[in-house]
Amino acid sequence: MYSARNKTYRGRFAPSPTGPLHFGSLIAALGSFLDARSRGGEWLVRIEDLDPPREVSGAADDILRTLEAFGLYWDNQVMYQSQRHDAYQQALEQLEHGQLVYPCGCSRKDIQENLARSGSGNVYPGTCRNGLPQGCEARSLRLRVPDLDVRFADRLQGDIEEWLPEKSGDFIIRRADGLFAYQLAVVVDDAEQGITDVVRGADLLDSTCRQIFLLQSLGYAPPHYLHLPVVVNESGEKLSKQTNAPAASPQQAVSSLAAALRFLGQSVPEGLEDSQLADFWDWAVQNWEPERIPNTRMIEGH
Ligand code: GLU
Repeated sequence: MYSARNKTYRGRFAPSPTGPLHFGSLIAALGSFLDARSRGGEWLVRIEDLDPPREVSGAADDILRTLEAFGLYWDNQVMYQSQRHDAYQQALEQLEHGQLVYPCGCSRKDIQENLARSGSGNVYPGTCRNGLPQGCEARSLRLRVPDLDVRFADRLQGDIEEWLPEKSGDFIIRRADGLFAYQLAVVVDDAEQGITDVVRGADLLDSTCRQIFLLQSLGYAPPHYLHLPVVVNESGEKLSKQTNAPAASPQQAVSSLAAALRFLGQSVPEGLEDSQLADFWDWAVQNWEPERIPNTRMIEGH
């Protein structure tokens, strides 16, 4: 079905194995897949199993089996973040070498107290920026964020601009429990996998400027970004395991995929939900129109 590969487009789907694939994550998988395949590009899968306390045993395999049952076939080997420790360590050392990292001894409680006292903003106030206060032990590692405005043009959400000191402050790249932070891992892996286009949920839009800064600090060019609207419930909460989103069922693969396509604003012909999986994909790959996706960050529904 997808013979001529376009080597200049490489997309990815990067689920965290915190539970089964559900309608919300299916939308990110479908959007990234169709954007890649409709341009003859490659589509990779990366399991973001970086945070064992949040993971559910068996969820990674379950997600992969569900993707296959839905016909979301990936290229190359699946990458697992749990096996990438050395690469993250190397990136950390590179940043340390550039004087961009410092140890922080603040607990969450310390930070909250500091912010309450100063009454300013809600980002880390830079307490340990110029050295650990006396008697304080290093807990996490933070990135020293410069006085920088980061801008990028999201393919769907338009121009995004953030002044880092105000929006993110010096952020954590290695946590107090010794685990590497998502922000660091995601950019090291996107760079290693040669990702040209990141298509994912708009809940991650707030992380993107930090990621662009990290990529640039490590000497990489940022990819193109397209942040899809996320499904929320009537209280504005994202569909997730925490909000009891039902697992995507392989028995209803085509109807779930058709519903996800409609959610993404595509002009799905009536009856597509009753077609065979292969016919569904033929139609979807040929008719993917990213310009029809609603350019909003969240949509209530499903
Ligand atoms: N692992 C993240 C999640 O499941 C997605 C990361 C990304 O797409 O950059 O929310």
